Amino acid sequence: MRIDLLPVFDKEGERVELDYSFEQDDESFVTPVSVTGFVENRTGIVRISAAAKFDYAAPCARCNKPLLRHATVPVKHILVSELSEEDDSDEFILVEDRKLDVDALVCEDAYLSIPYRLLCKPDCKGLCPQCGADLNEGPCRCEKAADPRWDALKDLLNGT
Ligand SMILES: [Zn+2]
Ligand SMILES: [Zn+2]
Repeated sequence: MRIDLLPVFDKEGERVELDYSFEQDDESFVTPVSVTGFVENRTGIVRISAAAKFDYAAPCARCNKPLLRHATVPVKHILVSELSEEDDSDEFILVEDRKLDVDALVCEDAYLSIPYRLLCKPDCKGLCPQCGADLNEGPCRCEKAADPRWDALKDLLNGT
């Protein structure tokens, strides 16, 4: 959705409500992205204050199990028609032609909020690097053979 911000930039107190959803062309987004909030000119400062909600899918970084997560992402920025050097941060968004591409802005915030590495549980044991077995389901055979501590213990028991 693109909104024309000219009336908002021009008039203090002007407000545009946001309540819509859009499809994101990315297979990790399993639901449309719903956006609720507003763009408002308060005392001459134009800001967007919204929340984006969607479900996304990603594999566990250790065991590769497919995971489904819900995300609620705040989309809060100050919208400016000109950017000075001091304003060069994520907080300030330059709106060229006074037209705001809300979808693009929401997507940017959404991608930044999705964790780079998801884990199915904090102590996920992952897959055995040798046989690929899921170690959450129990130890595999090669694990013991490959563990030098096990050999040391055996030596101890055998009295060698
Ligand atoms: Zn896992
Ligand atoms: Zn193994």
